[in-house]
Amino acid sequence: MLTLPTYDDVIAAAARLKGHAHRTPVLRSATADAMLGAQLFFKCENLQRMGAFKFRGAFNALSKFSDEQRRAGVITFSSGNHAQAIALSARVLGMPAVVLMPNDAPQPKVDATLGYGAQVIRFDRYTQDREALTRELAQQRGMTLIPPYDHPDVMAGQGTAAKELFEEVGELDMLLVPLGGGGLLSGTALATRVLSLRCKLYGVEPEAGDDGRQSLRRGQIVHIDTPRTIADGAQTQHLGHHTFAVIRRDVDDVLTASDDQLVAAMRFFAERMKLVVEPTGCLGFAAAMHAAIELEGLRVGVLISGGNVDLARFAELIG
Ligand SMILES: *Cc1c(COP(=O)(O)O)cnc(C)c1O
Repeated sequence: MLTLPTYDDVIAAAARLKGHAHRTPVLRSATADAMLGAQLFFKCENLQRMGAFKFRGAFNALSKFSDEQRRAGVITFSSGNHAQAIALSARVLGMPAVVLMPNDAPQPKVDATLGYGAQVIRFDRYTQDREALTRELAQQRGMTLIPPYDHPDVMAGQGTAAKELFEEVGELDMLLVPLGGGGLLSGTALATRVLSLRCKLYGVEPEAGDDGRQSLRRGQIVHIDTPRTIADGAQTQHLGHHTFAVIRRDVDDVLTASDDQLVAAMRFFAERMKLVVEPTGCLGFAAAMHAAIELEGLRVGVLISGGNVDLARFAELIG
């Protein structure tokens, strides 16, 4: 039996995050509204600490550790934003952190994680099973493993962004949320089903890797090969058991966006809204811009999930 988080856990997470996470702004764009014939509300988690919503889930999970767990510290596997979120949260809470990263992880991400004070252990992703390796190390060192999405405390923490959004702008007709392993979408669902019951809630994943959509259609978790896409935060191969249970129950559907559509959204954010958004963070708006769904006259929330993109890469993509 899975223990699924509820909206009460999101409320508790928001209390733990108070004073530690930013209450990120909700931006409007008259140009976007005119272009789509809708009222759009952009929740800007690219402006969150360490540059993505993942600080919320990581900090919430680590805040719940017992004294004994804090002494031994936290361990995780990630080459992306979760690594930095765990490293920063551990530093703020004063505990050791170990992050397993593949040998070929981009150097800026390794440096950022080291910069927040975590120990980085490299592994060969072609010959070693990272989850098994992490579990083994966790046991050896007595550290607690906090995975990137399939964990009730991570999900509840991620749900605090949507809680803030609804508290600020009131009920919405629709909300578009980037989807990887489903921590953000499932947490968002917990908040949405209490604060704006009739809001249509959609996950948006890369066209090249639509395992989330397939999973919803089939009623079971579908596994795929690592998709080739510029949305590196959503290159997951499958949803989690906890995240899928909530998504299946509370999410209306899953849409997709192509890499070209993500680039168009990135360019819009930079040019019109002066925002640096990473490709994965553009998934929600890309689906809206390309009329993956009817928006006319609606109040639509768009969750911008993160802004961590190497500037040379950013220039190359939008240039
Ligand atoms: C991790 C991440 C996602 C996907 O979140 P999940 O909880 O895995 O679905 C989306 N956008 C950004 C920027 C991320 O770092």
